[in-house]
This record gives sequence, structure tokens and C-alpha cells, in this order.
Amino acid sequence: MKMLHTIEDFALTNPDAIAFTAPGAQITYGELWNQSEQLAAMIHGMGLSSGSPILVYGHMEPEMPVAFLGSVKSGHPYIPIDTSIPLERIAKIIENSNAELLIIVANAPFVLENSPASIVTLSELKAKLPVNAKSNRSSWVAEDDNFYIIYTSGSTGNPKGVQISATNLQSFVDWMLKDFPIKGGLRFLNQAPFSFDLSVMDLYPSLASGGSIFAITKEMIAKPKLLFEALEKSNTNVWTSTPSFVQMCLMDPSFNEDLLPELSVFLFCGEILPSAIARQLLERFPNAKVFNTYGPTEATVAVTFVEITAEVLEKHQSLPVGRPKNDTKIVLLNEDGTESIDEEGEILIVGPSVSKGYLGQKELTERSFLRYDGKMAYRTGDAGYIENGLLFYKGRMDFQIKLHGYRMELEEIEHHISKSQYVKMVVVVPVYQNEKIEYLTAAIVPEPHSFSKEFQLTSAIKKEISENLPAYMIPRKFTYYVDLPMTPNGKIDRKQIREKVML
Ligand code: AMP
Repeated sequence: MKMLHTIEDFALTNPDAIAFTAPGAQITYGELWNQSEQLAAMIHGMGLSSGSPILVYGHMEPEMPVAFLGSVKSGHPYIPIDTSIPLERIAKIIENSNAELLIIVANAPFVLENSPASIVTLSELKAKLPVNAKSNRSSWVAEDDNFYIIYTSGSTGNPKGVQISATNLQSFVDWMLKDFPIKGGLRFLNQAPFSFDLSVMDLYPSLASGGSIFAITKEMIAKPKLLFEALEKSNTNVWTSTPSFVQMCLMDPSFNEDLLPELSVFLFCGEILPSAIARQLLERFPNAKVFNTYGPTEATVAVTFVEITAEVLEKHQSLPVGRPKNDTKIVLLNEDGTESIDEEGEILIVGPSVSKGYLGQKELTERSFLRYDGKMAYRTGDAGYIENGLLFYKGRMDFQIKLHGYRMELEEIEHHISKSQYVKMVVVVPVYQNEKIEYLTAAIVPEPHSFSKEFQLTSAIKKEISENLPAYMIPRKFTYYVDLPMTPNGKIDRKQIREKVML
């Protein structure tokens, strides 16, 4: 794969350049390349089944990319698992992916009983790494082989694994380095945990252009003082985040050009970019360009882009998500799957960065992936329209939502809450403020129970569901009812419930 050779070239010509910085730790290109070579050689010797994925568990440690590259250079895709993911969910991912190895990079306790996968810490492996060992180049993942698999929320209650091949990723990285003002050697900010594909937007464009990544940890995000101290030191040139994250930063007036004087590019993806945010950024960072990009994990991070200039802001109340990259086509579909002629409909993405589908989930894959003009295509479930050649996002057509930048299926949350011993019936409702989801409320009909106070019942339910759901998927509010309203045709009346929980 071209990108791996490019990273190797940087490691050979500039081994002491910093590839990745996290609090208190850094890794150079030379270390990244050599350690991943040794790791690949070691994994190769483990005799794993051909192409079986490897889970990599950690947060923002500089060894995360070592484990990623070690996996792909040994011929195995990796599955990034952030430390915020609960054990039950990790067990399900192992079961679904048939992974035979989990590498712990995080320096935190991790015990998964009865796992079919071998679990080893990277430090244990490092102690045994064969010095000067090299990967076998003919084993490197290439072309249609999976490079990584990212698990996203699934409506059936189980996460689904989006398979991204070397070709998918190369198409994405080539586009980033061609159509954005990203020249070599820049410093990229990484805000998203590796288990979300937004992190791919800085990790690989940075490594493929001899850049350096500055990682923001969840501890920093929880403590604005730490975050701002880190930002000041970061010398960031390229900012990648969700609009929600930058919105949080903008609440502090010191988030401006004085704090980040070298910032030249803002890249946003994953949720609606409100025009008020873009406007504030252009005011506070007059020398930076702001880009809105759009795409799902299933099409490798993003496939459309537009620079948000003062003119664009003046022209459009809702911002466009832009034009597709050169190798990709956007088609709009009618409800029956035929092509829409009035430039409005469900967004279908056609092109080389579209995934081959969900790992081990044929039916689910066939529901959303198809061939169009002989190329892979993905039905996004997003409604959109095209105006003057620009694509606009018009919301979801199902129960998938974005909350604070995180993608989730309301049905998956309902599935896990309904399994609680205290719950007879549940509907999860997003609560909006200024057209943005602020939080989730679970409207519940409880089973008979012995709690005297509602908050006790709520904490008992929360405790049960936190075994399966990460914290960001747990509704903030729980409200209790004797029954939930139905529509005349016997379906749960979500609209009425939404009105009820807003009272
Ligand atoms: P994810 O797979 O987490 O990247 O989520 C993909 C979904 O996020 C898309 O299908 C859209 O619903 C939404 N999304 C991504 N980018 C944008 C954007 N620029 N504006 C509005 N929604 C977006």
C-alpha cells in the first residue's frame, strides 16, 4: 500500500521527527516504524488465522499507532477500542469479529474473563520483541484487504463492524492531501478517540505527509484548564474535531488566534456545522480556512467538502456539506431506491472509499450496500438535496442520531434499557435545543419494584445498562409513566412521547 511506503520513507529520511505527542510521551517516525516492524514480525510468528482482526485497546498513547501499523504490516486489520468502551461490548466485538488477539496498549487494568481471543499487553510483547526483526512485506495488507474495522452503534442492539480496506483508506488520504491546504510537516490536533473514524482524518493524512499529531485526551476534555494549557503548547496547524467540540472551546473567549497562532485549517465532520460557529471561527481566526466535510464511517470518514467563507455564510442559512471528492459520485434516491430527478432524496455514495460492508453481517450489508455503475455504493439513510452543485444535509431518515458528535442508534439504547429487570417498556427521545440534540430522555414504563424514590430506580437501571453501553449513550434523564401512548395503528407514538417528555 502506497501510504505505508510513504510513512517508511519519512522514517528513513527523518527518523527523529516527532510523529505523535500525547501528555508526557512522544514517538518519533523512526521509533514508530521500527517498533511496528518488530511487532509485525512477532505477530506473524503467532500463527493467527489469515486476515483475522486484532483488537487494540487504549486511549491516546503514542503506542496506539505502533500497534495499528504492527497489525497491518503483519497482514491483520486492527479494531481500535477506546478505554471508554465497556467490557460486555468488547466481548461482543470479539465474538462478532472472530478476533484471536487483543493487544492492551493502555496502562490500565483490563480483565476479560473467558475471552476466546488471547489478551496480551504491548509492554509484555515489547519485552520480547525481536530486535532488528522486520515485517514480511508480502504480508502487508493491500488493496481490498481490510486495514481497520470500526464498530459503530447498531439498531439490533449489537455494534456493527465497518470494514475499511487499504484501497478505501488510500483513496481518502490521497483526497485529503490533494484538495485541502495540507502541505508536508504540519501539526495536526487529534480530538476523537481512535474508535471513531474522525480520528482517521488526522492520523493518516498526518503520517502520510510527514506531519505530527498532538493528541487531546479525555482527561483534558473534562478539564478545560488542562485543555487550554495543552492547546497553547500544541502549535496546531490543522484542527480536526466535531463541531460540538469546537463549540465547547468557543465558550472561552481566549480560544482565538493568540492561543493558536499557527492554526491554518479547521476540518469539521460528523454532524451539522452551525453557521454561527463557522462565523465565530472566521472572526477569531482570520488567517484560518474553515472546511465542512460530510460522510459516514461506511465511506471512510468523509466524501464531500466545502470551504466556509464569508460569502458562503452570507448566501446560506444552513451550510452546505459541499462537493464530492473527484473519484466519488453522490446520487439522490427516492424512497423506492430509484434515482431521484428533482435533486432531493436519500444520499447514496458511490466510489472507491465505500466499504465492502459490515463484518460477518451479510443481511445488514445487503440492506445498505449495493453496486452502482459497477462500483461500491452505500445508502446513507441521510436525506439531502443539491443546489447549484452543492450538497446539503437534511437530517436522518431513521433513528440514528448524533449527540455531542457521537453516532448512535436510539434502537440500540432502547434494546439495552428494555433488557433491564426494572423496565417493562421504553422509548428513548432526543431533546432538542436550537435544532441541536442537547440530551436524551428515556421514557419508561417500569416493572413493579421496591424502590421508594425514582432516582433510586434510575440509578439501578443505569448501573445495569452501563455494562453494555458506553457512558455517552446513556440517557441523561429518565422519566416514568404508567403507559406509553400508541398511534391508531398500534405503534408506539414517538411524537406524543417527545411532547410528553418536554413538559
Ligand atoms: P459517522 O459514521 O460517525 O461519521 O456518522 C455519519 C453520519 O453523521 C452521517 O451519515 C450524517 O448523518 C452525519 N454527518 C456527517 N457529517 C455531517 C455534516 N457535515 N453535516 C451533517 N451531518 C453529518
